[in-house]
Amino acid sequence: MYQAGMKSNNLLGLDQAELVRLAESLGEDPFRGRQLYVQLYRRKQHNLDLMTDLSKSFRSRLLQDYSVSLPAVRQVVTSRDGTAKLLFRLDDGTFIEAVHIPEETRDTLCISSQVGCAVGCTFCMTARMGFARNLRVGEIVGQVLRAIEMGLVGENGFNIVFMGMGEPLYNYRNVMKAFRLLTDSEGMNLSYRRITVSTSGVTPVLRQMAEEPKLPNLAISLNATTAEVRNRIMPINKRWDLKELLDVCRDFPLEPRRRITIEYVLLKDETDSDEDARRLARLLRGIPSKVNLIPYNPSPGLPHERPEEHRISRFQEILSELNVSAFVRKTRGIDVAAACGQLAHLEAS
Ligand code: SAH
Ligand code: SF4
Repeated sequence: MYQAGMKSNNLLGLDQAELVRLAESLGEDPFRGRQLYVQLYRRKQHNLDLMTDLSKSFRSRLLQDYSVSLPAVRQVVTSRDGTAKLLFRLDDGTFIEAVHIPEETRDTLCISSQVGCAVGCTFCMTARMGFARNLRVGEIVGQVLRAIEMGLVGENGFNIVFMGMGEPLYNYRNVMKAFRLLTDSEGMNLSYRRITVSTSGVTPVLRQMAEEPKLPNLAISLNATTAEVRNRIMPINKRWDLKELLDVCRDFPLEPRRRITIEYVLLKDETDSDEDARRLARLLRGIPSKVNLIPYNPSPGLPHERPEEHRISRFQEILSELNVSAFVRKTRGIDVAAACGQLAHLEAS
């Protein structure tokens, strides 16, 4: 619920066309809307009082119905390896998390697309929260703006991955609008090649996505090689199964030299057998892809175990022998529960 007195209209999340229309509706020149756009996204000015290139009267009329609201940073927990987990409180009192992962070549910012998640994968803590709601566009872009404001990432040259809380393709419209705002050359101007959307496999939306003029990189959480196992650990497979998902991947439009990332969580004695590795190589035939092996990150109460190191390397080796490029995702931030699958805010503080 919105608190009394809080303005629910957030300017952040509106695109240039919408801001131009808003300016016009307030009797201003369309150009004022473009200035507002540049202030918000290029200059990253979020205090209307400091937007001195806009007239006082325009600003005060805006303030009657609008505010500029960024998610509030409630807590930052930094891991021994430098990974930082940011806890955000949203306007309605719900919480989401984002993770900053410093890397030698290029930092990565992992952001959320929903409060909780409805998909219910058995290995993922976010599933335990259940689903609360979709993030608004301003709340998605706001996570990035906060990380920039805090000096965690530079204005350019970092990766953004939609691998935090939530299933991005269940919040497709807002995720794609946020993607366009992040990459607009007149605004935030981040490279679309450095943005990745990860999905558990919402195939109808993937088909829709394939029609977009400009696309982020795609990562698919495959995580199993048989329908039986995938049904068990990722209930979404009962709705859109492995085969259908791989068919969509086979047809997905890719720029030259681009590949789909196939994420594969290694669960001891469940998804880590030699046979799984060979089956995975077979399934990926004809799909320009690279495999990202993610050794399971344990969380209390989840019914899985992490395979031993020699199993992880054996799995990777088999894939390589079969000419599938496979990388083992380095575990980061595990001591502060910021690693893949550990994001959950189970009670509000
Ligand atoms: N909902 C999206 C994006 C968020 S999850 C999706 O599922 O793709 C990001 C990645 O973390 C997914 O590939 C998921 O399979 C993986 N993951 C989830 N829980 C994990 C865990 N406990 N250990 C390792 N990886 C996990
Ligand atoms: Fe949702 Fe992704 Fe977690 Fe599955 S792995 S429950 S889709 S966030």
